[in-house]
Amino acid sequence: MKGSIPETERENAYSSRETWPPYTYMDYPDITAETYNSFMELLSTENTSNKVMELQPWISFCESKCTFCFYSVNPYSSTLLELYLKALKKELDMYAKTKYIQTSEFDEIVLGGGTPSLLSIDQMIDLIEYCKKNFNITEEYMIKVSGSTRSFDEKKLVAAAEYGVYQVDIGAQTFDNKLRKMLNLPDSAEHAEQVIKTARKLGLCTCIDILFNIPGQTLESWIDTVKKAIELDVEVDCYSINVHPRTVLDKQLKAGQVPPQPDPELEKKMYATAYELFTQAGYRPVGHDRFSRVEWHFKENCLNGWPWAGILTTGSGCIMGYLQKFSYSNIESAKDYIAAVNEGRLPIAKLSKSTDQDMMRKVMTKLYIRLPVDKQEFKERFGKLPEEVYPEQLKRLKEKGLIEINEKEIRLTKLGDLWKANIAWEFAENK
Ligand code: SF4
Repeated sequence: MKGSIPETERENAYSSRETWPPYTYMDYPDITAETYNSFMELLSTENTSNKVMELQPWISFCESKCTFCFYSVNPYSSTLLELYLKALKKELDMYAKTKYIQTSEFDEIVLGGGTPSLLSIDQMIDLIEYCKKNFNITEEYMIKVSGSTRSFDEKKLVAAAEYGVYQVDIGAQTFDNKLRKMLNLPDSAEHAEQVIKTARKLGLCTCIDILFNIPGQTLESWIDTVKKAIELDVEVDCYSINVHPRTVLDKQLKAGQVPPQPDPELEKKMYATAYELFTQAGYRPVGHDRFSRVEWHFKENCLNGWPWAGILTTGSGCIMGYLQKFSYSNIESAKDYIAAVNEGRLPIAKLSKSTDQDMMRKVMTKLYIRLPVDKQEFKERFGKLPEEVYPEQLKRLKEKGLIEINEKEIRLTKLGDLWKANIAWEFAENK
């Protein structure tokens, strides 16, 4: 790379990699009567965004709790799950009756969570059919189901493939049995591998999550997991573990019950090594953390429409909801969620309404999801070019070789990919 800043300094653009971009549900304010009414007002209007959305019913039940998990999940109970599914349909119905949703189109039905693969195949199909019946689904749409390697048995995978599920998202996390045990992943690496092989044999687009920066993880263990993912012929979401204060892992780390996490230098090396291995094997980086070879992953409307499209998420503990300037997450406890829905109100717990300044910052986080920022579109929306709003940040990032700016757009460089979360933070309000 050219420029006055030496190469080593460019590679060490920051002292450590950020793993968590700004604007997450944890920072949203609690819902108030005022914000609730304002959201309901939006729902009573027509959706004129011309953007196709994602419909995301959330199944917030898990068979056990992974030690690194900071989501709110409910322990699996078949009785509670039955009640939950009824409430989930009621919540979906509340949205489906609004003008905004009636004038919206969805091209993805995504069963997220939690562990949707805990549903029986009949429950799964019933929920998807309910979505298809009550929402405007585009002619070409995708069904995706997330799950664990323990609950996605062969019978369920065969039935899902026969029904028309396009993609399964599987939390593999690591193929190192020692680390699996420490993270409280209930099955062995060999079993996880077998389930993934079955999904691939059935022709399902299979995306697996794998984690690096795990306490005690060596570079060799990480490379083995990356190579195994490539060998299994799957698409990969590659996350640096985020040890959140509300996790068991955080407590274990503080009590010295588990080895420390890799240092920032090794963490960086782990990401850079994975980047090289995946790209050499024909994968391309896309979205938040994915390496993929599937063309459709690069075209997903929901990704490319950020932050103007929308994800209609429903279910207890769901966190990814956004419609226009509103972002929301739902009540976490399944029981409280069911009670709220049965009272006839949307079970939202946190609701944030973005200002224009916030929306500008969100547009800049397109860099975090590896998308270019279209300068003209920015100007049409906000009356100014990004360079006029963020002159210092953009100058600094360009000098560091992290972004490229031309007449049309701003995009990440290969080096910028390594630091994309840090780049997102450059535009955050409370940097
Ligand atoms: S399976 Fe996923 S949602 Fe459930 S505890 Fe583990 S990480 Fe959390």
